[in-house]
Amino acid sequence: TELKNIRNFSIVAHIDHGKSTLADRLIQSTNTVADRDMKAQMLDSMDIERERGITIKANSVRIEYKANDGELYILNLIDTPGHVDFAYEVSRSMQAVEGSLLVVDASQGVEAQTLANVYHALDADHEIVPVLNKVDLPAADVEAVRTNIEDVIGIDASDAVEISAKTGLGIPAVLEAIVTRLPAPKGDRDAPLKAMLVDSWYDAYLGVVVMIRVIDGTVKKGDVVKMMQTNATYKIDKLAVLKPKMVDFPELGPGEIGILTASIKQVRDTKVGDTITHDKKPCAKALPGFAPSVPVVFCGLFPVDANDFDDLRNAIEKLQLNDASFSSEMETSAALGFGFRCGFLGLLHLEVIRDRLEREYDINLITTAPSVIYRIFMRDGTMKELHNPADMPDLTFVDHIEEPRIKATIMVPDDYLGDVLKLCQDRRGIQMDLTYAGARAMVVYDLPLNEVVFDFYDRLKSITKGYASFDYQFMDYREDNLVKMSILVNDEPVDALSTMVHRDRAETRGRAMCEKLKDLIPRHMFKIPIQAAIGGKVIARETLSALRKDVTAKCYGGDATRKKKLLEKQKAGKKKMRQFGRVEIPQEAFISALKMD
Ligand code: GDP
Ligand code: MG
Repeated sequence: TELKNIRNFSIVAHIDHGKSTLADRLIQSTNTVADRDMKAQMLDSMDIERERGITIKANSVRIEYKANDGELYILNLIDTPGHVDFAYEVSRSMQAVEGSLLVVDASQGVEAQTLANVYHALDADHEIVPVLNKVDLPAADVEAVRTNIEDVIGIDASDAVEISAKTGLGIPAVLEAIVTRLPAPKGDRDAPLKAMLVDSWYDAYLGVVVMIRVIDGTVKKGDVVKMMQTNATYKIDKLAVLKPKMVDFPELGPGEIGILTASIKQVRDTKVGDTITHDKKPCAKALPGFAPSVPVVFCGLFPVDANDFDDLRNAIEKLQLNDASFSSEMETSAALGFGFRCGFLGLLHLEVIRDRLEREYDINLITTAPSVIYRIFMRDGTMKELHNPADMPDLTFVDHIEEPRIKATIMVPDDYLGDVLKLCQDRRGIQMDLTYAGARAMVVYDLPLNEVVFDFYDRLKSITKGYASFDYQFMDYREDNLVKMSILVNDEPVDALSTMVHRDRAETRGRAMCEKLKDLIPRHMFKIPIQAAIGGKVIARETLSALRKDVTAKCYGGDATRKKKLLEKQKAGKKKMRQFGRVEIPQEAFISALKMD
């Protein structure tokens, strides 16, 4: 296909503003997928996506469209993940296309993720076409949202396309706008091959699948290509385009997007952003490439039953085949035995992986407190990265500690602003900016990542009844007065409950954790002290009183089946318990103890 007849684009939107529905309509109205094969959320529900489990990967679809000018165009849509955890993946895949549709719900207006994603698009020098969706809703206010886009984002929205992705209204206008308002890609068909490795994933049948965007030259099945960063060479076994099913394709030229397979063993062998060229006739200069995305949140994963350790190891290895952004190393805990210290891109990522381990691999897990990476500056001038509070060195050797800080953008209706400011303040936030767009406020806070990784997002949603939207980016590492707080149950330290806290908040946090644990740990036949301590100093204490009554006593004797049921229920509950010295601590205590409400 000639360059002038290609358009490559992505869709940026806040969650629920209609990105998937619009993608479906574009696929359907161009007959890319036969009506009988059409299902909702086509891009999300592709087999490949389901196998990958988590949408942290880019997805794409090649659409053929006969435009009003009579010419046939190839439209390549790259769909990007929408959650803040994967912001870095979004910004990378945007480098592979030239334009974006900016979808805004006309009954809602611009939200935090609209902003974050449109900034990624602007960073990638995209041409942007604003699209006002859901105009079928009575609450839609097209004019207000047009002004809102211009005020908050600062781009011209006077010729925004008005659509209803649900009813199909305005879809032809979107297709025309893609062709007439987005630029064609540039490239040189006769130059040596230069293609960008956009993404890669593991497919059970095909092995590693690599998505590419050709910049210059052409590529065919059977070609021997070289990855310029790793210097590895491969023979291409399969070349295809996604419609969104894989369809074999003879040759991809400049501006085109497709996938290849080449007996690549592991996803780790492919570097997103790498340059793919011909081994025999390489291009002169590689693309700038990207730094790999690095885990920012760490936690320990331990099998409840120590016999499941090997199963856990195998399961983690399997999941890593497909997700190079998730790291793991073996960890031993005095309290929890053998397990793994795992690193994730964010809390959602952590939850998805943990759920998959439990559901798909049927392993009962104890998850320890999520922690960020601290930088420990020692008195001898060296610096250690601390991934696990349990490894905190003796304070006498420590000079100071730095923690990661983020810039958080929160958009919220005016009514809830006070509560949001209080939440940010409580989490050691420093207000950076506060502006208004209509009845919505936009606040920007400088916050410690540590205070956000845990339950910040849940709290924000609950205090604003779901109306707040949130996005963040990493800012810098900064020194603060941080200490390690230990928890002792029945006078034994439970290393898996250690956390790093700010000194000024240690008492409050310690008290809250002890109170929580008192509720979470079932009573035993003896009294159990629960304490929080910094170094040797106890800063909070609760006592769980001894159990007096027999649990089955309330069955009033007689009913044997009821009694049996109760005992069975107790036994099932036990499976999810873990023995610490003489005390049994339930699995959920390790996470619940940290929730601050
Ligand atoms: P995404 O999170 O941006 O991918 O959003 P979805 O495409 O999943 O849409 C979110 C919700 O909005 C779904 O329930 C859709 O059915 C609904 N929706 C999408 N477009 C429209 C529209 O034009 N009008 C109305 N009334 N609902 C829509
Ligand atoms: Mg969606």
